[in-house]
Amino acid sequence: MIIVHDVLQAREIIKEVVHETPILHSSQLSTISENQMYCKAEHLQKTGSFKIRGATNKVKQAVREGATYVTAASSGNHGQAVAYIAKQLGIPSTIVVPVDAKESKVNAIKAYGGSIEKCGTTSAERLPKAKELAVQHNGTFIPPYDDPFIMAGQGTIGLEILEQLEDVDVVVVPIGGGLLSGILVAIKQTKPKVKIIGVEPETANDTYLSLQNKKITSITRTSTIADGLRTSQPGDMTFPILQQYLDDLVLVSEEEIKVAQNFVLERMKQLIEPSSAVTVAAAMNKKLGITGKNVVCVLSGGNVDIQV
Ligand SMILES: *Cc1c(COP(=O)(O)O)cnc(C)c1O
Repeated sequence: MIIVHDVLQAREIIKEVVHETPILHSSQLSTISENQMYCKAEHLQKTGSFKIRGATNKVKQAVREGATYVTAASSGNHGQAVAYIAKQLGIPSTIVVPVDAKESKVNAIKAYGGSIEKCGTTSAERLPKAKELAVQHNGTFIPPYDDPFIMAGQGTIGLEILEQLEDVDVVVVPIGGGLLSGILVAIKQTKPKVKIIGVEPETANDTYLSLQNKKITSITRTSTIADGLRTSQPGDMTFPILQQYLDDLVLVSEEEIKVAQNFVLERMKQLIEPSSAVTVAAAMNKKLGITGKNVVCVLSGGNVDIQV
């Protein structure tokens, strides 16, 4: 299990690459949720999401260990982040995407310097392909979340929040698992009084069910619009951290996610993706179970297809 030391180390390693993103206050969201509401703006991060934090920490580690090539299996934010950091470090990358990947996503990965390999339609097909390519070419496969370096990199968000808003009471994080586990370690091992609440779509509630069952429980394929949160089960490394530290988990509906995404665009003038909007949705619908607190919602990314 990672510890806060790993997150502090990650922060040093990635500081030349990633932005320290701002924390935005919203008066309207504060009024609606009866808390002082802040948003950690990772949609303004390099490559448009927090994924560059973990990817940078992991790819730099791989290069230190001698890798001259990296692969990933993701048509989304993780694929873009890996392609970007590999290019920065001067090594080639291949991102394995589904055969039906959206043209806009494929183009974004290419624009960051990644090569595209199309394979199957499920992650069960893509993962082995990405691992195989890595083995063939003296490379390293970069997993999306279930990895100590990835988790530690994502956790650097937690350290920044503690510095940027000293009297923070509550931090609200989308699940996934990688992002949340890193933030949990960073914050609970530095300032344990701070409460951390995870948010999942109702239709992708694998972590909710796993916490209830006290063991990793998988769900069948989900179609939530929050495409960054479509995991079918929690990670072997991330789940024990959630079990140990997570204070609360709330679920939000697809409609609540859409309304929250529109609210952030119209009122806060910020374009975020549905996976980010789950935290705002929880606050807007008074699901956090708190009032009068200083609350930070993590806005995890802003990559949306404008046509959609
Ligand atoms: C990947 C992603 C998540 C979930 O991250 P995990 O590390 O799997 O917890 C949330 N939001 C966005 C925008 C993402 O890209």
